[in-house]
Amino acid sequence: MGPYASLNLAHHVGDEDSAVGTNRGIVADAVRGPVVFMRPAHGVAVAYLDESYLAGREPPVADVLITTVRGLSVATLAADCVPLLVHDAESGAVAAVHVGREGLLRGVVDTAVAAIMEARHGGVRQESVTFSIGPAICGRCYEVSSEVRAEVTARYPLARSTTRWATPALDLPQAVAGRLAHLGFDRVVRHRRCTFEEPRLFSYRRDRLTGRQAGVVSCDGPPA
Ligand SMILES: [Zn+2]
Repeated sequence: MGPYASLNLAHHVGDEDSAVGTNRGIVADAVRGPVVFMRPAHGVAVAYLDESYLAGREPPVADVLITTVRGLSVATLAADCVPLLVHDAESGAVAAVHVGREGLLRGVVDTAVAAIMEARHGGVRQESVTFSIGPAICGRCYEVSSEVRAEVTARYPLARSTTRWATPALDLPQAVAGRLAHLGFDRVVRHRRCTFEEPRLFSYRRDRLTGRQAGVVSCDGPPA
């Protein structure tokens, strides 16, 4: 209904639980299997999901969901923050990551990369890891104070941006892409859609009371 009228996938944002359940069912049908939806908290907690999650268990609060269970899908929820998806062809691991300003500062990108590397028990081929940076608020829209911009750009210089109306801003997708490049990963897909500018996407900055979209990645299990 209203602000949630197009596939809101998050509980706790004011939508009806039954509607969210229906919407989550639509996503599960689309990927033909169970989907574990993240419960993000702008932190760096990692949840490793085992077979028990195939039965629809709720995950712990975490901003990184990772699994190697064949048939299980993981979903990150966002409405301006960066939905980051990861696939490692070497181990078969997939991860869904929620990257907001706070999580970025706490190192959630590095945490997710470490979790993926740990899942493969020693392999080191970075070119087998693919990242997808989904729709997020862009650097021309994400206005922040000059203090906040300075705090973030001290660690992530590429986050520095300016709004279309010439005030301090942050470019979180660019910061994520830059960090991945710095860590040696070059298989990065960027969707470059702005949640704030596109009415079809949920944007917390634009609407405050709004739903959450999801980035979903499915695990095919370890390579044969
Ligand atoms: Zn924008």
